[in-house]
Order: sequence, then C-alpha cells, then structure tokens
Amino acid sequence: MRYVISGAAGFIGSHVCDRLIHAGHQIVAVDNLITGHAENVEHLIGKPGFQFLEQDICKPLHITGHVDHVFHLASLASPVDYLEHPIETLESGSTGTRNMLELARHHHARFLLTSTSECYGDPLEHPQSETYWGNVNPVGLRSCYDESKRYAEALTMAHHRVHGVRTTIARIFNTYGPRMALNDGRVVPAFIDQALKGHSLTVFGDGSQTRSFCFVSDLVEGLLLLSESDERYPVNLGNPAEMTILQFAEEIRARFENAIGIEFKPLPSDDPKLRRPDITKARRVLNWEPCVPLSEGLTITIEYFRKRAERGGDRFPLRANGRPDQVEVA
Ligand code: UDP
Repeated sequence: MRYVISGAAGFIGSHVCDRLIHAGHQIVAVDNLITGHAENVEHLIGKPGFQFLEQDICKPLHITGHVDHVFHLASLASPVDYLEHPIETLESGSTGTRNMLELARHHHARFLLTSTSECYGDPLEHPQSETYWGNVNPVGLRSCYDESKRYAEALTMAHHRVHGVRTTIARIFNTYGPRMALNDGRVVPAFIDQALKGHSLTVFGDGSQTRSFCFVSDLVEGLLLLSESDERYPVNLGNPAEMTILQFAEEIRARFENAIGIEFKPLPSDDPKLRRPDITKARRVLNWEPCVPLSEGLTITIEYFRKRAERGGDRFPLRANGRPDQVEVA
C-alpha cells in the first residue's frame, strides 16, 4: 500500500511512519516542519518506500503514481503552539484538510482525519462518548484548535456524503511517548523536563482537572485499524485510565530520587476540567483497546528524554504488534 501522511515528522506522525515502513508499505511523508522535527524521521530517509516532502499542506498537493491511503495528521497540537500560531492552526484544519481530502478523492484513496477530544471542549458529559456534541467556546483562546478540528470533521463528512470518499475520523485523547517535543508545553514533556532538571513541577490551577494518557504505540495501532474500517462517524481513541493532574505530578515525582517540589500556577483559560474517553465504540468497531499501562509507558518515555538530554538524537522502533520494542539512542 502507498500512504500519503501529512504531519509525518510530528510526534504521532513519525510513529505511524515507523509502523507502516516496518510492515513493508510505501510512504510519502509530508511536513512543513513548523512543529515537526526532521530528526523524528531521519532514520527512515533512504529506507525503501520512504519519501519525504517538506511542504505546507495549505498549498495543494500533487502526488504522482497511485495512492491507497491519505492520513491527515498535520496540525499544531500543543496548546502552547496553537496559541502562538492560531491562524496557521485554523488554516491546517480548514485549507489543509480540504487539500488532503481532494488528494484522497483524486486518487480514490481512503482518508483518515486525526481529530481530537478538544471537539468536546470543556465537557458537560463525562466520560465523553462520540454522541456528545461538546461544549466549546467558539471565540476563546483554544477555539483556533477546537473549531479547526470541528470544521475538519464537518468537511470530512461532507466529502464522504457528496463525493463518496471513504473517510474515517479519529478523536484522539491525550497521547504521550518518545519524540514529543520537550518544550512544547504539554504536561507530560513539561513535567519530565522539569523533573530531569530538578525543578519544581508546574501544576496549573489546583491540579484537580483530569486527563487520561494513552501511550503512542497503542494509539498508532488504533489509527491503523480505523483507517481500514468502514466506520464513517468519529471514533474516540484514548486510554480511559483517568487521573488528576496533581496525581500525575505525584506519579512523576515518585520516579525521581531528588525531592522535587510542586509550584502552582494559574489555570489557562478554557482548560477542560474533566477528560476521559468512552472507548466502547472503538472496542466494538475496531476490537481495539490500549494495552500499555501508564507505569510502563512512562518508564519508556522518561528513559527516552533522559538519554536524549544526555546525548541527543533518538531511535524508537516499534514491534509489528504496536508494543514498544526497545529504546536505542543514537
Ligand atoms: N498542565 C499543567 N502544567 C503544565 C502543563 C499543563 O498543570 O506545565 C495542565 C494543563 O493545564 C491541562 C493538563 O495539564 O489541564 C493537560 O495539558 P496539556 O497541555 O498536556 O494538554 P491538553 O489536555 O490541555 O490539551
């Protein structure tokens, strides 16, 4: 199979590339490197079937030869990044999604949109199932991300309804693992970075807000299953193991020998208070559920960041079943 993947040099995109190349597929990897890092895919350069294209998907994409799958992962995904680049975020969700959908339509390819749990905004329903329509502030600071993804979902459904494109939509909940950018502001790399430096962990608000963290190899497995399915409506992909941010901070502190403090900082506006995926649908439609516990995933992730801080560079092969194989550092 030949895949076109936008956002291929990003955290999740690069792991998707690893899995597909490992399985013998061909990839045209597209990334404008605004938040993706070339080093995330440099180990794939020169491998048979892997092609890297540095391009902004907001410009139309012309790919010669056949294409079987189009995966649209390109987006700024960290609150710090999308608050800094709100217009680019809206553009990749709107124009970028349109261009990727047109590409899929042109090639009669299957299309996968990576959407987000942010479609539920600050949810009034808990846990969140796909039938919940969400509680999004359309003009708040986070709206550039939330609304771009909600629009992307609507555009995807429209292309399915009008043009018959075989589309799928994943609503991704908080995901973590190697290759997250240490400085992207998200809570997992932020706490690990702070702990490695012996700094206090910055807990926003009183830390009672909850998140549910999914290890990246589990998520990739879910995305690949979804991309092959005939389910047209959104499917939640995430790990339902929910905890407060304060509990998560304690989990990190317990893993470091030095006493690490906690510093409370103001809660960003519209920060969702509760988030936990209802994955009943993913279990039923995809026969999927996450299998890497937080304890295991965090060990791998902290080890990755520790080695990366010491020596730089990374290699993170995944076994064909989606479980982490080993972490080697170049
Ligand atoms: N958070 C925190 N300290 C940090 C970074 C984030 O307490 O240094 C909180 C943030 O306010 C949110 C949660 O951790 O409630 C998850 O934030 P993240 O940016 O990882 O992703 P989000 O789920 O908000 O998109």
